[in-house]
Amino acid sequence: MSSSGKKPPRPHAPATKVVHSGRAPHDNFGFVNPPVYRGSTVLFPTAEKLWKRDQLYTYGRSSTPTVRSLEEAIAEVEGGAATALTASGYQAVSTAILAFVKSGDHILMVDSVYQPTRKFCDYMLAKLGVETTYYDPLIGAGIADLIRPNTRIIFTESPGSQTFEVQDIPAIARVARERDLWLLMDNTWASPLYFRPFDHGVDVSIQAATKYIVGHADAMLGAITSNARAAKHVALAKEQLGVCPGSEETFLGMRGLRTLATRLAQHQRSGLEIARWLEGRPEVARVLHPGLPSHPQHALWKRDFLGATGLFSIVLKPASDKAVAAMLDGLQLFGMGFSWGGYESLIIPFDPKPYRTATKWTADGPALRLHIGLEDVDDLRADLEAGFERLDAAK
Ligand SMILES: *Cc1c(COP(=O)(O)O)cnc(C)c1O
Repeated sequence: MSSSGKKPPRPHAPATKVVHSGRAPHDNFGFVNPPVYRGSTVLFPTAEKLWKRDQLYTYGRSSTPTVRSLEEAIAEVEGGAATALTASGYQAVSTAILAFVKSGDHILMVDSVYQPTRKFCDYMLAKLGVETTYYDPLIGAGIADLIRPNTRIIFTESPGSQTFEVQDIPAIARVARERDLWLLMDNTWASPLYFRPFDHGVDVSIQAATKYIVGHADAMLGAITSNARAAKHVALAKEQLGVCPGSEETFLGMRGLRTLATRLAQHQRSGLEIARWLEGRPEVARVLHPGLPSHPQHALWKRDFLGATGLFSIVLKPASDKAVAAMLDGLQLFGMGFSWGGYESLIIPFDPKPYRTATKWTADGPALRLHIGLEDVDDLRADLEAGFERLDAAK
Protein backbone atom coordinates (compact mmCIF):
# COMPACT_ATOMS: atom_id res chain seq x y z
CA MET A 1 0.00 0.00 0.00
CA SER A 2 1.34 3.43 -0.86
CA SER A 3 1.15 6.27 1.66
CA SER A 4 -2.00 7.61 -0.04
CA GLY A 5 -3.68 4.29 0.77
CA LYS A 6 -4.11 3.43 -2.92
CA LYS A 7 -3.03 0.09 -4.26
CA PRO A 8 -0.08 0.47 -6.67
CA PRO A 9 -1.20 -0.31 -10.23
CA ARG A 10 -0.84 -3.94 -11.25
CA PRO A 11 2.01 -4.21 -13.78
CA HIS A 12 0.71 -5.08 -17.22
CA ALA A 13 1.53 -8.37 -18.90
CA PRO A 14 3.69 -8.26 -22.06
CA ALA A 15 0.67 -9.07 -24.27
CA THR A 16 -1.00 -5.91 -22.96
CA LYS A 17 2.15 -3.84 -23.33
CA VAL A 18 2.56 -4.68 -27.02
CA VAL A 19 -0.95 -3.34 -27.57
CA HIS A 20 -0.78 -0.18 -25.47
CA SER A 21 2.84 1.04 -25.26
CA GLY A 22 4.17 3.95 -27.26
CA ARG A 23 0.91 5.56 -28.23
CA ALA A 24 -1.14 8.45 -26.91
CA PRO A 25 -4.35 8.69 -28.96
CA HIS A 26 -5.53 11.88 -27.28
CA ASP A 27 -2.40 13.70 -28.46
CA ASN A 28 -3.48 12.77 -32.01
CA PHE A 29 -7.12 13.93 -32.09
CA GLY A 30 -8.15 10.54 -30.66
CA PHE A 31 -6.83 8.49 -33.57
CA VAL A 32 -5.71 5.12 -32.25
CA ASN A 33 -2.40 4.93 -34.10
CA PRO A 34 0.39 7.51 -34.07
CA PRO A 35 0.72 9.13 -37.50
CA VAL A 36 3.73 8.75 -39.80
CA TYR A 37 5.89 11.85 -39.48
CA ARG A 38 8.10 12.15 -42.56
CA GLY A 39 10.67 14.86 -42.40
CA SER A 40 14.15 16.31 -42.36
CA THR A 41 13.75 19.97 -41.34
CA VAL A 42 12.18 20.79 -38.02
CA LEU A 43 11.47 24.51 -37.50
CA PHE A 44 12.43 26.41 -34.36
CA PRO A 45 10.14 29.30 -33.41
CA THR A 46 12.92 31.63 -32.16
CA ALA A 47 16.69 32.13 -32.50
CA GLU A 48 17.03 31.52 -28.77
CA LYS A 49 15.39 28.09 -29.10
CA LEU A 50 17.57 27.20 -32.08
CA TRP A 51 20.78 28.26 -30.31
CA LYS A 52 19.90 26.08 -27.34
CA ARG A 53 18.32 23.27 -29.42
CA ASP A 54 15.56 23.73 -26.91
CA GLN A 55 12.82 21.46 -28.22
CA LEU A 56 12.00 17.78 -28.31
CA TYR A 57 12.67 17.31 -32.05
CA THR A 58 15.50 19.12 -33.83
CA TYR A 59 16.18 17.22 -37.06
CA GLY A 60 14.64 14.24 -38.86
CA ARG A 61 17.74 12.09 -38.54
CA SER A 62 17.81 12.46 -34.76
CA SER A 63 14.21 11.48 -34.11
CA THR A 64 10.58 11.97 -35.04
CA PRO A 65 7.41 11.37 -33.01
CA THR A 66 6.89 8.16 -35.03
CA VAL A 67 10.36 6.85 -34.18
CA ARG A 68 10.06 7.88 -30.56
CA SER A 69 6.73 6.05 -30.22
CA LEU A 70 8.14 2.74 -31.38
CA GLU A 71 11.36 3.21 -29.39
CA GLU A 72 9.33 3.76 -26.22
CA ALA A 73 7.11 0.78 -26.97
CA ILE A 74 9.98 -1.66 -27.58
CA ALA A 75 11.90 -0.43 -24.52
CA GLU A 76 8.81 -1.02 -22.40
CA VAL A 77 8.01 -4.43 -23.87
CA GLU A 78 11.60 -5.70 -23.67
CA GLY A 79 12.13 -4.18 -20.21
CA GLY A 80 15.12 -1.95 -21.00
CA ALA A 81 15.89 1.69 -20.19
CA ALA A 82 15.96 2.94 -23.80
CA THR A 83 15.66 1.70 -27.38
CA ALA A 84 17.44 3.05 -30.46
CA LEU A 85 15.88 2.09 -33.79
CA THR A 86 18.09 1.30 -36.77
CA ALA A 87 17.48 0.78 -40.49
CA SER A 88 18.04 -2.99 -40.27
CA GLY A 89 18.82 -5.73 -37.79
CA TYR A 90 22.33 -5.92 -39.13
CA GLN A 91 22.79 -2.20 -38.50
CA ALA A 92 21.59 -2.75 -34.93
CA VAL A 93 24.37 -5.34 -34.51
CA SER A 94 27.12 -3.17 -36.03
CA THR A 95 26.04 0.00 -34.19
CA ALA A 96 25.79 -1.79 -30.85
CA ILE A 97 29.27 -3.28 -31.19
CA LEU A 98 30.85 -0.02 -32.34
CA ALA A 99 29.32 1.74 -29.33
CA PHE A 100 31.68 -0.14 -26.98
CA VAL A 101 34.98 -0.77 -28.80
CA LYS A 102 38.01 1.19 -29.91
CA SER A 103 41.18 0.24 -31.77
CA GLY A 104 43.25 -2.24 -29.75
CA ASP A 105 40.24 -3.84 -28.04
CA HIS A 106 39.20 -7.47 -28.12
CA ILE A 107 35.73 -9.02 -28.23
CA LEU A 108 34.35 -12.50 -27.55
CA MET A 109 31.87 -13.67 -30.19
CA VAL A 110 29.72 -16.77 -30.09
CA ASP A 111 30.63 -19.27 -32.84
CA SER A 112 26.96 -19.87 -33.74
CA VAL A 113 26.28 -16.19 -34.46
CA TYR A 114 24.28 -14.90 -37.42
CA GLN A 115 26.74 -15.13 -40.29
CA PRO A 116 26.81 -11.45 -41.36
CA THR A 117 27.69 -10.53 -37.74
CA ARG A 118 30.69 -12.81 -38.13
CA LYS A 119 31.68 -11.04 -41.35
CA PHE A 120 31.41 -7.68 -39.58
CA CYS A 121 33.94 -8.93 -37.00
CA ASP A 122 36.27 -10.57 -39.53
CA TYR A 123 36.42 -7.62 -41.91
CA MET A 124 35.21 -4.31 -40.46
CA LEU A 125 36.34 -4.81 -36.86
CA ALA A 126 39.64 -6.34 -37.99
CA LYS A 127 40.22 -3.31 -40.23
CA LEU A 128 39.59 -1.00 -37.26
CA GLY A 129 42.10 -2.91 -35.12
CA VAL A 130 39.58 -4.78 -32.96
CA GLU A 131 40.33 -8.47 -32.51
CA THR A 132 37.64 -11.19 -32.27
CA THR A 133 37.84 -14.56 -30.53
CA TYR A 134 35.04 -17.01 -31.32
CA TYR A 135 33.84 -19.22 -28.49
CA ASP A 136 31.78 -22.40 -28.13
CA PRO A 137 28.09 -21.50 -27.56
CA LEU A 138 28.01 -24.06 -24.72
CA ILE A 139 30.96 -22.48 -22.87
CA GLY A 140 28.90 -21.00 -20.00
CA ALA A 141 31.03 -19.74 -17.10
CA GLY A 142 34.13 -21.11 -18.90
CA ILE A 143 34.06 -17.85 -20.90
CA ALA A 144 36.17 -16.40 -18.05
CA ASP A 145 39.23 -18.24 -19.40
CA LEU A 146 39.06 -16.36 -22.72
CA ILE A 147 39.02 -12.87 -21.24
CA ARG A 148 42.08 -10.70 -21.87
CA PRO A 149 43.01 -7.34 -20.34
CA ASN A 150 41.71 -5.60 -23.51
CA THR A 151 38.41 -7.55 -23.79
CA ARG A 152 35.41 -5.18 -23.86
CA ILE A 153 32.41 -7.17 -25.12
CA ILE A 154 30.93 -10.62 -24.77
CA PHE A 155 28.48 -11.06 -27.63
CA THR A 156 25.81 -13.77 -27.35
CA GLU A 157 23.02 -15.02 -29.56
CA SER A 158 20.71 -17.64 -28.15
CA PRO A 159 19.65 -19.93 -29.63
CA GLY A 160 22.38 -19.88 -32.28
CA SER A 161 21.54 -18.91 -35.85
CA GLN A 162 20.62 -22.01 -37.89
CA THR A 163 22.00 -24.52 -35.36
CA PHE A 164 19.99 -23.54 -32.24
CA GLU A 165 22.48 -24.09 -29.40
CA VAL A 166 21.06 -22.49 -26.24
CA GLN A 167 23.57 -20.42 -24.27
CA ASP A 168 23.74 -20.16 -20.48
CA ILE A 169 23.20 -16.40 -20.48
CA PRO A 170 22.98 -15.98 -16.66
CA ALA A 171 26.33 -17.79 -16.19
CA ILE A 172 27.98 -15.61 -18.85
CA ALA A 173 26.35 -12.50 -17.35
CA ARG A 174 27.90 -13.22 -13.94
CA VAL A 175 31.35 -13.36 -15.54
CA ALA A 176 30.71 -10.20 -17.56
CA ARG A 177 29.63 -8.32 -14.43
CA GLU A 178 32.63 -9.56 -12.39
CA ARG A 179 35.11 -8.57 -15.09
CA ASP A 180 33.34 -5.30 -15.96
CA LEU A 181 32.58 -6.24 -19.58
CA TRP A 182 29.59 -5.32 -21.72
CA LEU A 183 27.21 -8.20 -22.38
CA LEU A 184 25.40 -7.93 -25.70
CA MET A 185 22.77 -10.35 -26.95
CA ASP A 186 21.10 -10.83 -30.30
CA ASN A 187 17.61 -11.68 -29.00
CA THR A 188 15.86 -11.87 -32.37
CA TRP A 189 14.77 -15.52 -32.18
CA ALA A 190 12.85 -15.22 -28.91
CA SER A 191 11.68 -11.64 -29.56
CA PRO A 192 11.15 -9.39 -26.52
CA LEU A 193 8.29 -11.67 -25.43
CA TYR A 194 9.95 -15.07 -25.06
CA PHE A 195 13.28 -14.07 -23.52
CA ARG A 196 13.67 -11.23 -21.01
CA PRO A 197 17.32 -10.22 -21.50
CA PHE A 198 17.47 -7.63 -18.71
CA ASP A 199 16.20 -10.13 -16.14
CA HIS A 200 19.19 -12.32 -17.02
CA GLY A 201 21.97 -9.73 -16.78
CA VAL A 202 22.26 -8.60 -20.41
CA ASP A 203 23.31 -4.95 -20.97
CA VAL A 204 22.24 -4.55 -24.59
CA SER A 205 19.59 -6.55 -26.46
CA ILE A 206 19.45 -6.51 -30.25
CA GLN A 207 16.36 -7.21 -32.32
CA ALA A 208 16.27 -7.73 -36.05
CA ALA A 209 12.80 -6.15 -35.98
CA THR A 210 12.60 -7.13 -39.65
CA LYS A 211 11.68 -10.58 -38.36
CA TYR A 212 8.88 -10.99 -35.80
CA ILE A 213 8.25 -7.35 -34.85
CA VAL A 214 7.53 -6.24 -38.41
CA GLY A 215 6.13 -9.73 -38.93
CA HIS A 216 4.93 -9.37 -42.53
CA ALA A 217 8.15 -9.44 -44.59
CA ASP A 218 7.45 -5.91 -45.82
CA ALA A 219 10.12 -3.77 -44.12
CA MET A 220 13.70 -3.74 -42.80
CA LEU A 221 14.16 -2.49 -39.24
CA GLY A 222 16.37 -3.03 -36.19
CA ALA A 223 16.26 -2.13 -32.51
CA ILE A 224 18.96 -1.81 -29.86
CA THR A 225 17.58 -1.82 -26.33
CA SER A 226 19.93 -0.97 -23.46
CA ASN A 227 19.94 -0.89 -19.70
CA ALA A 228 20.59 2.47 -18.02
CA ARG A 229 24.35 1.89 -17.88
CA ALA A 230 24.68 1.16 -21.62
CA ALA A 231 22.06 3.51 -23.08
CA LYS A 232 24.22 6.63 -23.37
CA HIS A 233 26.95 4.77 -25.26
CA VAL A 234 24.45 3.39 -27.76
CA ALA A 235 22.78 6.79 -28.21
CA LEU A 236 26.14 8.39 -28.98
CA ALA A 237 27.11 5.68 -31.50
CA LYS A 238 23.72 5.98 -33.21
CA GLU A 239 24.16 9.75 -33.53
CA GLN A 240 27.77 9.63 -34.70
CA LEU A 241 27.20 6.84 -37.23
CA GLY A 242 24.14 8.65 -38.62
CA VAL A 243 21.87 5.69 -37.97
CA CYS A 244 18.27 6.52 -38.84
CA PRO A 245 15.29 4.23 -39.55
CA GLY A 246 12.82 5.06 -42.33
CA SER A 247 9.46 6.60 -41.39
CA GLU A 248 7.26 4.07 -43.17
CA GLU A 249 9.37 1.17 -41.90
CA THR A 250 9.00 2.46 -38.36
CA PHE A 251 5.25 2.63 -38.79
CA LEU A 252 5.19 -0.94 -40.11
CA GLY A 253 7.23 -2.02 -37.08
CA MET A 254 4.68 -0.37 -34.83
CA ARG A 255 1.81 -2.04 -36.65
CA GLY A 256 3.54 -5.42 -36.37
CA LEU A 257 4.26 -5.02 -32.68
CA ARG A 258 0.53 -4.70 -31.85
CA THR A 259 -0.15 -8.30 -32.90
CA LEU A 260 3.18 -9.81 -31.83
CA ALA A 261 1.88 -11.81 -28.86
CA THR A 262 -0.95 -13.38 -30.85
CA ARG A 263 1.22 -14.23 -33.84
CA LEU A 264 4.00 -15.71 -31.71
CA ALA A 265 1.59 -17.96 -29.84
CA GLN A 266 0.50 -19.44 -33.17
CA HIS A 267 4.07 -19.69 -34.54
CA GLN A 268 4.98 -21.52 -31.33
CA ARG A 269 2.06 -23.95 -31.47
CA SER A 270 2.42 -24.82 -35.16
CA GLY A 271 6.22 -24.88 -34.94
CA LEU A 272 6.19 -27.41 -32.13
CA GLU A 273 3.58 -29.54 -33.84
CA ILE A 274 5.58 -29.70 -37.08
CA ALA A 275 8.85 -30.25 -35.17
CA ARG A 276 7.38 -33.22 -33.26
CA TRP A 277 6.02 -34.69 -36.46
CA LEU A 278 9.41 -34.27 -38.17
CA GLU A 279 11.07 -36.19 -35.32
CA GLY A 280 9.05 -39.23 -36.36
CA ARG A 281 9.94 -39.03 -40.07
CA PRO A 282 12.35 -41.71 -41.32
CA GLU A 283 14.17 -39.18 -43.55
CA VAL A 284 15.09 -36.96 -40.57
CA ALA A 285 18.18 -37.63 -38.41
CA ARG A 286 17.73 -34.77 -35.91
CA VAL A 287 15.36 -31.90 -35.18
CA LEU A 288 17.09 -28.83 -33.70
CA HIS A 289 14.24 -27.17 -31.76
CA PRO A 290 14.97 -25.99 -28.20
CA GLY A 291 11.35 -26.66 -27.21
CA LEU A 292 11.68 -30.41 -27.81
CA PRO A 293 12.86 -32.62 -24.90
CA SER A 294 15.34 -34.22 -27.34
CA HIS A 295 17.22 -30.91 -27.73
CA PRO A 296 20.55 -31.08 -25.82
CA GLN A 297 19.90 -27.76 -24.03
CA HIS A 298 16.15 -28.21 -23.57
CA ALA A 299 16.49 -27.84 -19.78
CA LEU A 300 18.35 -24.54 -20.15
CA TRP A 301 15.74 -23.27 -22.60
CA LYS A 302 12.99 -24.26 -20.17
CA ARG A 303 14.72 -22.50 -17.29
CA ASP A 304 15.33 -19.19 -19.08
CA PHE A 305 12.89 -18.79 -22.00
CA LEU A 306 9.17 -18.10 -21.89
CA GLY A 307 8.39 -19.69 -25.23
CA ALA A 308 9.61 -20.91 -28.59
CA THR A 309 8.99 -19.17 -31.88
CA GLY A 310 8.50 -20.71 -35.31
CA LEU A 311 12.13 -21.08 -36.44
CA PHE A 312 14.11 -24.31 -36.14
CA SER A 313 16.25 -26.68 -38.18
CA ILE A 314 16.41 -30.32 -39.15
CA VAL A 315 19.31 -32.52 -40.20
CA LEU A 316 18.34 -35.05 -42.84
CA LYS A 317 19.81 -38.51 -43.13
CA PRO A 318 22.45 -38.50 -45.90
CA ALA A 319 20.86 -37.48 -49.21
CA SER A 320 22.19 -36.18 -52.52
CA ASP A 321 21.87 -32.53 -53.57
CA LYS A 322 19.61 -33.77 -56.35
CA ALA A 323 17.24 -35.41 -53.86
CA VAL A 324 17.18 -32.32 -51.60
CA ALA A 325 16.50 -30.12 -54.63
CA ALA A 326 13.63 -32.43 -55.68
CA MET A 327 12.15 -32.04 -52.20
CA LEU A 328 12.54 -28.25 -52.03
CA ASP A 329 11.70 -27.30 -55.62
CA GLY A 330 8.25 -28.86 -55.49
CA LEU A 331 7.07 -27.28 -52.23
CA GLN A 332 3.84 -25.34 -52.65
CA LEU A 333 3.57 -23.45 -49.35
CA PHE A 334 7.15 -23.24 -48.03
CA GLY A 335 9.01 -20.51 -49.92
CA MET A 336 12.79 -20.52 -50.31
CA GLY A 337 14.43 -17.29 -49.28
CA PHE A 338 16.29 -15.49 -46.53
CA SER A 339 14.88 -13.74 -43.51
CA TRP A 340 11.96 -15.14 -41.49
CA GLY A 341 9.42 -14.02 -38.90
CA GLY A 342 6.70 -13.16 -41.41
CA TYR A 343 3.29 -14.80 -41.71
CA GLU A 344 4.55 -17.24 -44.36
CA SER A 345 6.44 -20.51 -44.07
CA LEU A 346 9.99 -20.64 -45.39
CA ILE A 347 12.71 -23.24 -45.84
CA ILE A 348 16.41 -22.97 -46.71
CA PRO A 349 19.26 -25.46 -46.93
CA PHE A 350 22.39 -24.47 -44.97
CA ASP A 351 25.86 -25.75 -44.11
CA PRO A 352 27.78 -24.21 -41.19
CA LYS A 353 30.86 -26.40 -41.81
CA PRO A 354 32.93 -23.88 -43.80
CA TYR A 355 32.72 -20.96 -41.36
CA ARG A 356 32.67 -22.40 -37.82
CA THR A 357 36.04 -21.93 -36.10
CA ALA A 358 35.64 -22.58 -32.35
CA THR A 359 33.41 -25.63 -32.81
CA LYS A 360 32.88 -28.27 -35.48
CA TRP A 361 29.62 -28.92 -37.29
CA THR A 362 29.48 -32.68 -37.60
CA ALA A 363 26.17 -33.62 -39.23
CA ASP A 364 26.30 -36.47 -41.75
CA GLY A 365 23.36 -35.29 -43.83
CA PRO A 366 22.18 -32.00 -45.28
CA ALA A 367 20.53 -29.44 -42.98
CA LEU A 368 17.39 -27.39 -43.55
CA ARG A 369 16.10 -24.39 -41.61
CA LEU A 370 12.33 -24.01 -41.44
CA HIS A 371 10.19 -21.07 -40.48
CA ILE A 372 6.68 -22.20 -39.62
CA GLY A 373 4.25 -19.50 -40.66
CA LEU A 374 0.60 -18.89 -39.90
CA GLU A 375 -0.87 -21.27 -42.48
CA ASP A 376 -3.05 -24.24 -41.45
CA VAL A 377 -0.71 -26.75 -39.85
CA ASP A 378 -2.18 -29.78 -41.68
CA ASP A 379 -1.58 -28.04 -45.00
CA LEU A 380 2.05 -27.41 -44.02
CA ARG A 381 2.52 -31.01 -42.97
CA ALA A 382 1.05 -32.26 -46.26
CA ASP A 383 3.38 -29.97 -48.21
CA LEU A 384 6.43 -31.37 -46.37
CA GLU A 385 5.16 -34.93 -46.65
CA ALA A 386 4.93 -34.62 -50.44
CA GLY A 387 8.46 -33.16 -50.32
CA PHE A 388 9.76 -36.22 -48.46
CA GLU A 389 8.16 -38.45 -51.06
CA ARG A 390 10.08 -36.59 -53.79
CA LEU A 391 13.27 -36.85 -51.70
CA ASP A 392 12.83 -40.61 -51.30
CA ALA A 393 12.02 -41.07 -55.00
CA ALA A 394 15.13 -39.14 -56.11
CA LYS A 395 17.58 -40.94 -53.78
C1 LIG B 1 18.07 -11.45 -39.79
C2 LIG B 1 18.92 -11.37 -38.62
C3 LIG B 1 19.70 -10.24 -38.37
C4 LIG B 1 19.80 -9.10 -39.34
O1 LIG B 1 18.60 -8.44 -39.54
P1 LIG B 1 18.28 -7.67 -40.90
O2 LIG B 1 17.11 -6.84 -40.55
O3 LIG B 1 18.03 -8.71 -41.93
O4 LIG B 1 19.49 -6.83 -41.23
C5 LIG B 1 20.43 -10.21 -37.21
N1 LIG B 1 20.41 -11.23 -36.33
C6 LIG B 1 19.67 -12.33 -36.53
C7 LIG B 1 19.67 -13.41 -35.51
C8 LIG B 1 18.90 -12.45 -37.68
O5 LIG B 1 18.19 -13.56 -37.89
